[in-house]
Amino acid sequence: MKYTDIPARPANTAPITKAFSWPQNKKSCLFLSFDFDAETGWIDISPTDWHKKVKVSHGSFGARVGIGKILALLKELELKATFFVPAWTAQAHTQICENILTDGHEIGHHGRFHLLPDIHEMERSLEEIDNGFDILDRVLGIRPVGYRAPLGENHQLFLAHLWQNGIKYSSSWRDDILPYRHVLDDDQDGPIELPANYFFDDWMHGLIVGSGRNLLAREQILSMWNDELEITHEWGGLTTTIFHPQVSGRPSRYKILREFLSTAQKMDDLWIATGREICEHYESIEQKRVEK
Ligand SMILES: [Zn+2]
Repeated sequence: MKYTDIPARPANTAPITKAFSWPQNKKSCLFLSFDFDAETGWIDISPTDWHKKVKVSHGSFGARVGIGKILALLKELELKATFFVPAWTAQAHTQICENILTDGHEIGHHGRFHLLPDIHEMERSLEEIDNGFDILDRVLGIRPVGYRAPLGENHQLFLAHLWQNGIKYSSSWRDDILPYRHVLDDDQDGPIELPANYFFDDWMHGLIVGSGRNLLAREQILSMWNDELEITHEWGGLTTTIFHPQVSGRPSRYKILREFLSTAQKMDDLWIATGREICEHYESIEQKRVEK
C-alpha cells in the first residue's frame, strides 16, 4: 500500500456521541477491566517462544499468583469487573476462569493464542476469533458479548465478523472518552466501542522486559491514574482500565491498584461497571432516542 492509497478522511467515521446520562445520575463511569493473558502474552509473536520457559514464566505469574490476589481484592471491595481471556488461557487455566465466573465477573473474548488481528493474514485471524468462541463455549459454557483485540490492534473487517457472531461491544480503540457505535465498511452499524487508553495499561508502566521502557514508580502511576480519572469524571466520560494480573498482581503494583480502586470507590458519583453493563446502558440510551 502506498501513502497515496490512504483515503483523505477521518480514520473513524463513527458519529460523535451526543451527551447522555449515566445510570443512577452518576457523573462518569469506570470500566474496570483486566486482560488475563497469562502465558499467551509471551508466545504471541512466535510459538517457538513456548520453549523459553523463563520468558513465559512472566505470564505464568498472572495465573499462579496475580489473578488470585486480584479476585480476592475485588471480592473484598465488592467490585465486579470484566476479564478478557484468550481461549488458550481458558483451556490451560480452566479452574481459574471458572472462579472468575463464580465470583460474578464477566469474561470477554481476547483471541485464542493472543495473536494480532492482521488483514494480511485473514484466514489465521478469522480462525483466531472463531476458535476463541468455540473453545470458550466448550470449556466454560459461555458466549461472550465483549471483545478486546490482543496486542491492541484491530480492523473494521474483524469488527464486522465479531458483530455477526454476537459481539456487542469492543474495547480496543483509543479515540474517545465516551462510548460510541462503530460504523462498518458497508456503512451499517457495528458493535459499541468502549474506548481504552494507554495511561491505564499497566503493562506500559509496570513491566519493562524487552520493552526499552522505564519502570514507573508508584507515585508517578497513581498521580497519572488519579488525574486521568478526575478530569474524565469532570467531563462525564468513560475511564477504561487495561490491567493485567501478571503486572498488577505483583506486590508493589498490587498496592498501586488497591489504592487506585479505593480512591475510585470514594467517588460517590462514579459508576464502576463491567463492559456488559455499560454496553447495555448505551443500548438503552440508543433505544430511547429511537422511540422519541
Ligand atoms: Zn492481552
